[in-house]
Amino acid sequence: MRKIAILGSTGSIGTQALDVIASNPELFEAYVLTANNNVDLLIEQARRFQPEVVVIANEMHYDKLRRALSDLPIKVYAGADALCDVVKDDNVDMVLAAMVGFAGLKPTISAIKASKAIALANKETLVVAGDLITRLCRQYRVPLLPVDSEHSAIFQCLEPGNAIEKILLTASGGPFRNYDAEQLKSVSKSQALAHPTWNMGAKITIDSASMMNKGFEVIEAHWLFDVDADRIQVVVHPQSVIHSMVQFRDGAVKAQLGMPDMRLPIQYAFAYPKRLDSDYERLDFFQLHDLTFEKPDTTRFRCLKLAYDALAEGGNMACIMNAANEIANRAFIDDVIPFTRIAEIIEQTMQHVDKQFDCSLETYLDTDRKAREYARTLI
Ligand code: NDP
Repeated sequence: MRKIAILGSTGSIGTQALDVIASNPELFEAYVLTANNNVDLLIEQARRFQPEVVVIANEMHYDKLRRALSDLPIKVYAGADALCDVVKDDNVDMVLAAMVGFAGLKPTISAIKASKAIALANKETLVVAGDLITRLCRQYRVPLLPVDSEHSAIFQCLEPGNAIEKILLTASGGPFRNYDAEQLKSVSKSQALAHPTWNMGAKITIDSASMMNKGFEVIEAHWLFDVDADRIQVVVHPQSVIHSMVQFRDGAVKAQLGMPDMRLPIQYAFAYPKRLDSDYERLDFFQLHDLTFEKPDTTRFRCLKLAYDALAEGGNMACIMNAANEIANRAFIDDVIPFTRIAEIIEQTMQHVDKQFDCSLETYLDTDRKAREYARTLI
């Protein structure tokens, strides 16, 4: 029985992870469940899955959570520090990092230092501090199992002993793939939130529309698979059937295909190295009339270019980029800035905040704070 701590159990990834656990009760147990504000859903999940521990990050909801679960033998904690503590529990075998944004960094580091296997959905962790995270994983001999569908696909294509020549990272292109620069200026939040193929949390959906998400994934792929940016090619593939590909040095290309359903990569990470049965929808090749591929346009989708720039720069630059994006993404969702302003705010913040190299966790925390402060002045 693998006991799993789900950081962010009330989110899109978290709830799908609980579906996987519910379908495999003899293999997996939800040992820790956590949320930020959605206390009602956390209560419902706790009553159904009966975890050992629940944590609500926003302490304002603590009393409600505690009272609602007082008839059950579940430990109830609150606050950001509690997230870092609960992942260290001796009984936890694996931590699913499914919180959104920079907030996922500290609990993930805490879990690595406690030698827990990490199933990583929270890509911002690797974007911000890929160098530190991969170093710690090596030091503590911790497996870092990708949950992001593209990285799970690449992981499934790997061949031990055979080096990767190139990663072909597929991208749906998002809802604005065919919009020109003029049209992009006036897109609305509801248009941006309507992703053509994936149903995800709001922040990553906006990141997908701006292609910042694909930029993040380039950086994530660099750290996970130790491949330089010039060997990571983004391929726009609107049907989202091929989840990504690996080209080997003899020219052979391997791809992983499947329906766009995040339960599959979650389950793969949970059960790795085994594959489990599932009743998820199968691909019907006779329905796949057109699988198309395009080059990404980094002029209209500038965030993708900024991610390559941040990776080339190194140090804390991707941390600056991530912080500015979190502020700009939120401001767009709150109807404070237009869509095209997102990339401008990120670029200006990257030009302004001090660069640092040889970064520690403290450097990243400090950089994140400064970059957020500066990005806010631009709004
Ligand atoms: P959601 O917004 O749906 O869920 C985020 C989860 O994190 C919720 O449980 C939320 O709690 C919790 N949370 C948010 N902020 C904090 C905080 N400050 N402290 C503690 N907990 C917090 O996001 P997704 O599930 O869509 O995405 C999660 C991560 O997975 C992201 O990094 C995303 O990029 C990545 N990812 C997501 C995919 C998807 O299909 N959704 C695909 C690939 C990667 P509450 O509900 O209470 O707000």
